[in-house]
Amino acid sequence: MSDLASDPAPDDGSQKTGGLGGLVRRYWLDVTLWKRILLGLMLGTVLGLVIGEQAMGIKWVGDLFVRLIRMIVTPLVFFSIVSGIAGMGDVKRLGSIGAKTLVMYLALTAVAVSVGLSLGVLFQPGAGMDFVGTTPQVLGAAPTLGEYLMSIVPLNPFAALNEGNIPAIIFFAILIGLGILIIGEPAAPAARLFQIGSDIMLVLVRVIMELAPFGVFALVAWVMGTSGPSTFVHVFLLAVALVLGCAIQTLIVHGGVIRLIARLPVVPFFRDIADAVIVAFSTSSSAAVLPVAMRVAEKNLGVSHTVASTTLPLGTTLSMDGTALYVALLAVFSAQAFGVDMTAAQYLMVGLVCVVVAVGTAPVPSASLFMLAAVLQVIGLSAEQTALVVGFILPFDRILDMTRTVPNATSDLVVAVTVARWEGELDEASYRAKPVE
Ligand code: ASP
Repeated sequence: MSDLASDPAPDDGSQKTGGLGGLVRRYWLDVTLWKRILLGLMLGTVLGLVIGEQAMGIKWVGDLFVRLIRMIVTPLVFFSIVSGIAGMGDVKRLGSIGAKTLVMYLALTAVAVSVGLSLGVLFQPGAGMDFVGTTPQVLGAAPTLGEYLMSIVPLNPFAALNEGNIPAIIFFAILIGLGILIIGEPAAPAARLFQIGSDIMLVLVRVIMELAPFGVFALVAWVMGTSGPSTFVHVFLLAVALVLGCAIQTLIVHGGVIRLIARLPVVPFFRDIADAVIVAFSTSSSAAVLPVAMRVAEKNLGVSHTVASTTLPLGTTLSMDGTALYVALLAVFSAQAFGVDMTAAQYLMVGLVCVVVAVGTAPVPSASLFMLAAVLQVIGLSAEQTALVVGFILPFDRILDMTRTVPNATSDLVVAVTVARWEGELDEASYRAKPVE
């Protein structure tokens, strides 16, 4: 899949660059998106601090942007989860390698979710947070696991789509995906249709993200103007928890799998994957990492072509440990911010939904931000509250995205090495040797 939400293509010189259009192109459109978002963040911070509460006046610009995100959530979640599950058809064709790969990916994602939830509870990044202008939702007694499970089985899936009932939509999407898998070859056109649908949604995501600098500018001015710099404390705690979580997932969990399950030394692994880690960090896109990961796996780590070309493309789209960890962390953050006391059943459901959401998230920058609504509904947050969280976190998302994309990439390489080891498809001498430049 192409990096659909990535930055615009550089000017190839084929277009005239004179006049106002040329200036806009040169000084705006050709500037990488994250730099423009950063500019919005900085200018918004300054404006908010200078004009204070008056920043409420431009909040509508940010609200409009968040509305666009909310508009895309239902179709994006539906299409990406159906196509994610239908894409597992490749697993069936791959037999034992596919099955082992899938089980490992899902298990690692589940561990990542637990790390995210635990750090959220430990760091309490959302405690004491004050969302100005929020109408707290009247939360009844928390539903039991049984009640919750009952509510995700829609009586009418089309009504669920209509209402934007995300847990029910996810459930229905999983069933459609499984249906496509069971029918197999005759359902290939349907699988393709959903894949195209998901690609179209990603094009829309890219267009919406072009407006991010303006949305971020207005939102951050509003946050700073009304809550002041204390907001940074919460963002900082969130960032620390995320960095720590990603470090735990990469170094301890992934390193542990290499040492204890694949029974290989860990130092060559981390030394040899440096290129892939750098690309993940700098592009925030697992899709962009794939070609580098293929090369790293085959040339540096000694994974056979068969295993690399099976496990890595699957992992790019299905396995996102950093993303899973991040959405789990954000769910706990949001619960704290809105004073929701999560029950054990809710933790379990949030965990399950985070795994599914990570499977369905596209391997492009900021993708999981668009999937967050799916998780927040589980803890009973309203669409307005979800919008507040998205608006709050969005200005800072790029740097968090860079961080979480690293474990997204390393999990794929860990699984490639481990499966290759099990299948006798790992050249151990090449794994241990330093990579040739
Ligand atoms: N940027 C992530 C990736 O490409 C996805 C996300 O968490 O937004 O892996």
